[in-house]
Amino acid sequence: MRHPDLAALEAEVTACRRCPRLVAWREEVAATKRASFAADEYWGRPIPGFGDPDARVLILGLAPAAHGANRTGRVFTGDRSGDFLFAALHRTGFANQPTSVWRDDGLALTGAWITAAVRCAPPANKPTPLERDTCLPWTVAELDHVPDIRVCVCLGQFAWDAALRLRTALGHVAPKPKPRFGHGTIWYDDADSAGFGLLGTYHPSQQNTFTGVLTEDMLDDVLRTARELAGLPPVP
Ligand code: SF4
Repeated sequence: MRHPDLAALEAEVTACRRCPRLVAWREEVAATKRASFAADEYWGRPIPGFGDPDARVLILGLAPAAHGANRTGRVFTGDRSGDFLFAALHRTGFANQPTSVWRDDGLALTGAWITAAVRCAPPANKPTPLERDTCLPWTVAELDHVPDIRVCVCLGQFAWDAALRLRTALGHVAPKPKPRFGHGTIWYDDADSAGFGLLGTYHPSQQNTFTGVLTEDMLDDVLRTARELAGLPPVP
């Protein structure tokens, strides 16, 4: 279904209840809360995409964190992964501020749109393949209103796979063999200049950032490469 604008789409996305397991989890977490966030009114609903509708760079994550976006109502906002990501987006010229703490905190993006493959917080941060496929049409509908994407920065293997499915859902031929995910890996379909390419990075989860698997410099390099691939001016 085509939505007249992003606001109409967002209204529908945020009311979605297609995945019973995720609906139950997002609402249970919102009701019980983490003690340190007891004063917050949790969002407890699906998380819409966020950013610049004229974006050429799509940043695709896995799913909202239970006490991050599921609490604040904005993708990658209110948790350590988001802190790491938005600081990098600020350093590389995509974000107007280095922090992202709540949905009305003044953050704005230029040239980038951020969304997640699955829009509801999953138990143990692990959505199922069925939940991924059930949620995919929301991203397809979103890109109807963000039409200039040239490269998708995939935050981890799950997002890489979702991006390939997204391309197929948008009408592009599925590549064979399937391109393999890797940090810094760039993939384009040379025979199809109309579709966006993929650029892989390790996910900015604490598991990766606290252990040095993903450093600030590594993520900055990927985001600078994304600018270049998308034809955006380099960061001064
Ligand atoms: S994960 Fe996606 S499809 Fe499933 S309930 Fe949430 S918004 Fe709907």
